[in-house]
Amino acid sequence: MDIAEQLKLIEAKITGYLKEGKKIFTSSSFQTHSIPLLHILVNIDSDIPVYFLNTGYHFPETILFRDRIAAQLGLRLIDLKPETPKSMQKGSDGKFLFTSDPDHCCYINKTRPMDKILMEHDVWINGVRADQSDVRKNMQEEMPAPHNTTRYHPMLPWTSKMIYEYRKRYDLPEHPLDAMGYMSIGCEPCTRRFDPEMQEREVRWYGLKKTECGLHTDLITNKN
Ligand code: SF4
Repeated sequence: MDIAEQLKLIEAKITGYLKEGKKIFTSSSFQTHSIPLLHILVNIDSDIPVYFLNTGYHFPETILFRDRIAAQLGLRLIDLKPETPKSMQKGSDGKFLFTSDPDHCCYINKTRPMDKILMEHDVWINGVRADQSDVRKNMQEEMPAPHNTTRYHPMLPWTSKMIYEYRKRYDLPEHPLDAMGYMSIGCEPCTRRFDPEMQEREVRWYGLKKTECGLHTDLITNKN
């Protein structure tokens, strides 16, 4: 299916949700590959809230890029911060949790804040793609999420080539760290540059079994 057909399907789905009176939102990590979805959504309805999980551990370049994109596209951007202060995010060794228990660190900084947002909405538009990892390959277009919400994954069938073509067509900028060899960019302590031997997701939590932060594993109620 080509990009034009995909766009028609996404627009039909979102206008359908809106006609049904559903409260929808999206979230974005503001990586280069996130920008097409934001561009698509803002062209359908610029009022859709865009949540950014501001863990406090992001690269400064990500924050600057986020603000630039929000201004350029006219996004309704909402910064989502964890309730737990950084001083309380340390293990028994006094070091930050991402050094000893990254799952719990992700839970405090990502999963729990997003869970609260789910309570206030009906549909979470989420930009995961099947070609990003084995976990994502097994996802469906719509999936049930906590609090009787629905996850809608409009980009699931999109390939990295389609993302590139869409970005070029609309002259959408790339994250400044891409040019420095970063491929999947999350929190600074848990991100490393791409090595040709790796899968895209392996640049996160390198050396650990962890490949997902919990947003795409814990915030799904029926994983089958
Ligand atoms: S990606 Fe790393 S620093 Fe960010 S919340 Fe997860 S464990 Fe913590």
